[in-house]
Amino acid sequence: MNEYKEYSDIYRGGASILIAGVLLNGKTVDIFISADGKIEDLSENTRTVHRSDAEFIIDASGKIALPGLVNTHTHAAMTLLRGYADDMHLHEWLTEKIWPLEAHLTGEDVYWGTKLACLEMIKSGTVAFNDMYFFMEDAARAVDETGMKAVLSHGFIDFGNEEKRDSEIASTKKLISYIKSMNNPRIKGAVGPHAPYTVSKDALEWCSAYSEEEDIKLHIHLSETEKEVNDCINEHAMRPAELLDKCNCLSSRTIAAHCCWLDEKECRILGKKGVHVSHNPASNMKLAVNRAMPYQWLKDAGANVTLGTDGCSSNNNLDLSEEMKTAALLQKFYWNSDTLLPAGETLAMATSAGKKALGFGNGRIEQGEAADIILIDRNCACMTPLHNPVSNVVYSCNGNAVNTVICDGRVLMSEREVPGEEEILSRAEMVAESLVGRAKEE
Ligand SMILES: [Zn+2]
Repeated sequence: MNEYKEYSDIYRGGASILIAGVLLNGKTVDIFISADGKIEDLSENTRTVHRSDAEFIIDASGKIALPGLVNTHTHAAMTLLRGYADDMHLHEWLTEKIWPLEAHLTGEDVYWGTKLACLEMIKSGTVAFNDMYFFMEDAARAVDETGMKAVLSHGFIDFGNEEKRDSEIASTKKLISYIKSMNNPRIKGAVGPHAPYTVSKDALEWCSAYSEEEDIKLHIHLSETEKEVNDCINEHAMRPAELLDKCNCLSSRTIAAHCCWLDEKECRILGKKGVHVSHNPASNMKLAVNRAMPYQWLKDAGANVTLGTDGCSSNNNLDLSEEMKTAALLQKFYWNSDTLLPAGETLAMATSAGKKALGFGNGRIEQGEAADIILIDRNCACMTPLHNPVSNVVYSCNGNAVNTVICDGRVLMSEREVPGEEEILSRAEMVAESLVGRAKEE
């Protein structure tokens, strides 16, 4: 019937899978995934129909099925900078540590840094992410090999310099045409104007027009700190979201990270334009931005609020499960409301809302959807007792409770094993050491 003989072949994809006896939304069900990676059948007796034609059967008794998690703001290859500089003032952190090191980055570094990020994300249940960095063709190669889904953008920074603008435009176009040539439906290109304070108005206008013309996402940082809001008002006599709106940068193609310092009027603009917001609570707390993203205002305005980790130098991990807890706690603490951002809404931020933002489907486990499914072990301390699985997932567990990860029907992790893990760890360690060495030689 098939060429799949060994269980290790499950990692190759392109095979039908029956997930038998899994707990989904409080019910024990079977899920049949067709060879093309879609959820074909889902019911209490799917196994009676599909047991014989499934190429693999996953015994999921004792497991909980959840949609794969979606990280809507990362700089994946910054895994190489994990733990390199902590506990510093934001400005010194950037100018003395992060930027000087990044000046020595190579494509090979970004390739292994992204591989490490993908490994870490897979091990904690993430199937898709939205990434902005440099050497993104190398990042795209890494993502392609891991089997994850990603939206990738070149971090566009011109500081008002015309020559730099032209080279950033060229880099952006080159990335988009490279991604098109990959012809991988799991990988999409995006335009990535870094932020309103690092990108000129002319360049912002180019980015918005290019995003519309190519029908690709626009990934940007917005109002992370109070200083950038004040600087924007001084320079442009308007707040950052108003400036972006003026440059046509706000639409349903836009994913805006941080958004900590938005006022109510700006939230209404984002809602009206159908913008997707990426909440990055751990990074915001670590860099002491002194304000939490106004979740309630954005929700009331109808903006799609999602969840992201930001890069590993300001988090310092890519575990979205931890990020869910941090988000739910930060919102309650900062806005002084013990009912704000309950567990169910937090999980939706990390799943269906993230999927919608990245344009990869509705992020739910249902017939016809892409099979992006994670299985969580319920036989562990953080899942016991099981009064409320969603509460345990958001408040009690971290990514280590994830046992199996399936993306587009391809198993990326089974029983916590990810193929190639050892090589990724050793190569990433090597390139990170060499990068720090090169920066020291200066
Ligand atoms: Zn960022």
